[in-house]
Amino acid sequence: MSEGPNSSARKRLTLCVFIDALGWEILQRHGFLDDILVDKQRLETIFGYSSTCDPTIITGKMPRDHGHFAFFAYDPKKSPFKFYKLFGVLPRFLMERGRVRAKFSQIMKKVHGFTGYFQLYNMPFKTLHLFNYTEQKNIFEAGGINGGQSTIFDYLRERKIPFCRSESYVEPECVEEMVDAVTAGKIGFGYLFFGRLDALLHQYGTQGAPVSEHIAWYDAEIRRVYEAAQANYDEVNLFLFSDHGMTDITEVCDVKGRIEALGLRFGEDYAVAYDSTMARFWFLKPGVREQIESALKEEPLGHIMSDDELTAYGCDFPGNTYGELFFLMKPGVLICPSHMGVKPLAGMHGFAPEDKDSAASFMTNVALARKPHRLEDLYTIMKDSIDGARLEEESAS
Ligand SMILES: [Zn+2]
Repeated sequence: MSEGPNSSARKRLTLCVFIDALGWEILQRHGFLDDILVDKQRLETIFGYSSTCDPTIITGKMPRDHGHFAFFAYDPKKSPFKFYKLFGVLPRFLMERGRVRAKFSQIMKKVHGFTGYFQLYNMPFKTLHLFNYTEQKNIFEAGGINGGQSTIFDYLRERKIPFCRSESYVEPECVEEMVDAVTAGKIGFGYLFFGRLDALLHQYGTQGAPVSEHIAWYDAEIRRVYEAAQANYDEVNLFLFSDHGMTDITEVCDVKGRIEALGLRFGEDYAVAYDSTMARFWFLKPGVREQIESALKEEPLGHIMSDDELTAYGCDFPGNTYGELFFLMKPGVLICPSHMGVKPLAGMHGFAPEDKDSAASFMTNVALARKPHRLEDLYTIMKDSIDGARLEEESAS
């Protein structure tokens, strides 16, 4: 549906604000832009981490289709890291230091020409040559999605609609960039990206004072962008959303220790990626699956995911790219140590998506006729707004 005559003269802005980890449970405990927003609601997330959720938001597709899930996948043939086997002999105390690994990540990103998000996390150098990195390209740039789907940004590029998407991870810089862009009034679409809340929630948990303070900061800064937009556009459709929520950690679990006690050889008998909330296994020899499965069944803090479960989550990847067996922890249980970190955290996401603390949130200043229910519905809302389709409920008259 398109707008009536004369509407082409109206200057319209679609303003999207992405706030990493601002879950529905956390949001409900805070006042937030209450005088601007007409709707705040729970938004169902998908199984995985931001590396799964963000591609879904910008394509409207499920993980099995867009092909993004976790950063590391067992793939010795295509591994770009073959050379790093040599680093396995360097002293562990040095190679496990956060700062050393962060520096290494920066250098590796350059050396390999990765344009996407790249972090080594706590992946051991010893076995890195067995893994591929799955987000080598910037997902926001043309051709960045593994499955080849076009994103909302491709949609804008094809239609030559000017847009602003902040590249910086420094939030005040992103705000200034967006204020400048809407004040100039030349863009039709803005995508403000906020990542700091996620880090605070990991560090302090959902009840931490810095979390509430930062939500108040978002309120003030988003308000400033919105007011600048209103002063320069006839119509501003504001959509705020997150990718997932955050669960407070109540217990840690040493899945790695349990598996290593079996005495199997990594890279010969099996391979595994220990994420924060799940372990993903590949079996390289007959009989190994049975041994690992029975060890996992002894662990009451998690469960082996069934094929039906993974299919329902849209995570039935062709060729089992991301693992032949997924062991998922109960909400609140962190795998520690893992390939993501050695220290326990106060909050984590990536548990069962239907758990209340996993849920994302959605907010808007538009009385939408068709409200989104799930993360994958956001694409259509952004696209309809870009197209100038009628978004509001028809009035009763
Ligand atoms: Zn996070």
